[in-house]
Amino acid sequence: MSEETGFPGATVPPGFRSGFAALVGRANVGKSTLLNRLVGAKVAIVSPVPQTTRNRILGVANLPGRGQVAFLDSPGLHRPQHNLGERLNETARQVAGEADVLVFVFDASLGFGPGDEHVRGEIQQGRGSRPVILVPNKVDQMNKGKLLPLIEQATKEWGFDDVVPVSALSGDNVVRLCEVVLSRLPEGPPLYPLDYVTDQGDRRMITEIVREKLLARLRQEVPHAIAVVLDQLEPRPGGLLHIDASILVERPTQKAIVIGKGGAMLKEVGTEARKELEERLGTRVYLKLWVKVRENWRDRDPILHELGL
Ligand code: GDP
Ligand code: MG
Repeated sequence: MSEETGFPGATVPPGFRSGFAALVGRANVGKSTLLNRLVGAKVAIVSPVPQTTRNRILGVANLPGRGQVAFLDSPGLHRPQHNLGERLNETARQVAGEADVLVFVFDASLGFGPGDEHVRGEIQQGRGSRPVILVPNKVDQMNKGKLLPLIEQATKEWGFDDVVPVSALSGDNVVRLCEVVLSRLPEGPPLYPLDYVTDQGDRRMITEIVREKLLARLRQEVPHAIAVVLDQLEPRPGGLLHIDASILVERPTQKAIVIGKGGAMLKEVGTEARKELEERLGTRVYLKLWVKVRENWRDRDPILHELGL
């Protein structure tokens, strides 16, 4: 058997597998938590709020000598109420369309509901001959006796190729899921260098970390009305990285909520984000946050464009 070479410098052992696997499912089922687990690094932010993920996020899992799985996280499929929501659904469909394997995640602790049924319909329509792996997630908070009938239905009735229950939170069975996905990928050289984890650059990472800290503190409609824009990123003498970022909201009332009493909320968010950014960027950070009202930005295409949505 001959050894095949992919990108420059890579020697590929025989039987090496590689390809794209899309994580699809409705909002809040744990796709981003699962991506971070599969990759072993925080590449996607996570929050208790639906529609936290707004972009396609790549996370690469390398299994030394055996293969490389390029996982693609996507926004949850849902009923859109704004142009933003439509973009999110489009992104999700596009991500699913690009993949070699589809990983369909649902929240097993809630059971298989109408939202999951809707996603199942979309998957069946668009899958073609591609393998679909059903992943009941959050098994840490459910009665496992309920899983068996579902596994049977998924394979017999729905024609899914595998069912792999996991807990993305505890990591239970996540390694096995990675193995099952790998076994469904075609043989071929790696798609990315073997130490590659994500294509998300520092600029996106910075705004996402700020948004994550905000989402952890906001309730009801406010989280969806939030976006974060990077205004300035400037290394200053003495090893200090100066970051200016704007938090967009849709209404003055939301601005007041984000700022908090006497500026308390904004201060907490800023401190927490700065600490994580210093750790991740390995440098001291000065983070200045501004809050700006941009009426109905979720329906305004130029703003969505500026946000890369
Ligand atoms: P996504 O919208 O599908 O990407 O979901 P997220 O990854 O953002 O997770 C949504 C919420 O579910 C967060 O609060 C997570 O901490 C939580 N979560 C994700 N996976 C698990 C799990 O396996 N068990 C439990 N108990 N919670 C989880
Ligand atoms: Mg997500």
